[in-house]
Amino acid sequence: MIPNDVVNCVRDIYESNDFISLHEPTFGSTEEEYVLNTVRSTFVSSVGQYVEQFEQGVADYVKHNNAVAVVNGTAALHAALHYIGVGFGDLVITQAFTFVATCNAIKQLGAEPVFVDINHESLSLCPQALANFLEEQCQLSEQGICVHKASGKAIKAMVPMHTFGHPAKMDEIQTISQKWGIKVVEDAAESLGSLYNGKHTGTLGDHGIISFNGNKIITCGAGGIILSKHLAAANAIKHLTTTAKKPHSWEFEHDQVAFNYRMPNLNAALGCAQLEKLSHIVEQKRALAKFYHRFFSDSEYQFVCEPKYAQSNYWLNALVCQSEKHRNELLEFTNSKQVMTRPAWRLMHTLPMYSECIRGDLSTSVFYQSRIVNIPSSYNYKLKVI
Ligand SMILES: *Cc1c(COP(=O)(O)O)cnc(C)c1O
Repeated sequence: MIPNDVVNCVRDIYESNDFISLHEPTFGSTEEEYVLNTVRSTFVSSVGQYVEQFEQGVADYVKHNNAVAVVNGTAALHAALHYIGVGFGDLVITQAFTFVATCNAIKQLGAEPVFVDINHESLSLCPQALANFLEEQCQLSEQGICVHKASGKAIKAMVPMHTFGHPAKMDEIQTISQKWGIKVVEDAAESLGSLYNGKHTGTLGDHGIISFNGNKIITCGAGGIILSKHLAAANAIKHLTTTAKKPHSWEFEHDQVAFNYRMPNLNAALGCAQLEKLSHIVEQKRALAKFYHRFFSDSEYQFVCEPKYAQSNYWLNALVCQSEKHRNELLEFTNSKQVMTRPAWRLMHTLPMYSECIRGDLSTSVFYQSRIVNIPSSYNYKLKVI
């Protein structure tokens, strides 16, 4: 198979000779109606019926009670990590193979990310690599705090990220986190609709966050949700993300230094309309992945499939090329033909601001970073793929 076969395959799927993007949203009359309602009502900001409706809608979809809506996924991570006590001088374990927002949220709290490898099955945090890192480099203090021996810093949290929608091995990760007394915040920014052993990603850790940026599976324009195991935590996070204002009919009483992170009604309106189609979108995306999987079987391009224990939302479909050169040939050719493809993110420890971070062995991350190509994955394709 040559790069031109990939171009032709994608053009057949989308039945288009124009530019084909990697991932784009589709809006209909419901989106228009709900957004227009907010404009007509003047409730475009953080007070309005759609914000609570959106929180409830997401909570119902993921079968989880406690959802707090915020301005974006990065803010969701920032607030959740702040709530669990991550602060200056702490360490937070995550992947080098992630979008930069994961690390920015950690760093903005004055903490430092620590990079652990991913595994082949999920391209997400590897439990074995996690256990090895902790056994070799950390110890539990008398107070039950996990301390990184060489730096003397506390590991306050871990943030597994469900890469391209493929769930990490959460049972194993949870077992390790409990053994070491480390809280888990799932970065489920990309994986709304993905199931791990039948349960929604984002509901498995102490907290989980979802992004509703324009490139995600559904969008609010910009938006995020924090899911929390316990109602008290969700209430505290809502307080923290709404300037810590105590409820009162006219008095301005604030009791903490807090964030102004509440999702505006305008964004929530778009999200509510999108949420109505989410089940359909997940079905369409899974059907597209199945088609790609068949198309690329027995080719030089290995299609990235969901792990056995999971049902993925296949947010972004991915191919593994045979080498970096092979990858670059595919990227060059497809983009020159107006079919958008992208490599995986640069590994976080190769970015200047994270180059000094503590890290374990990252050979699997390096392997995939140099070989992966994401291919068009929008659900609005024309071909009857099933
Ligand atoms: C999109 C994304 C985020 C950030 O979400 P925003 O809503 O864009 O702030 C965080 N982590 C990962 C892995 C993402 O893909």
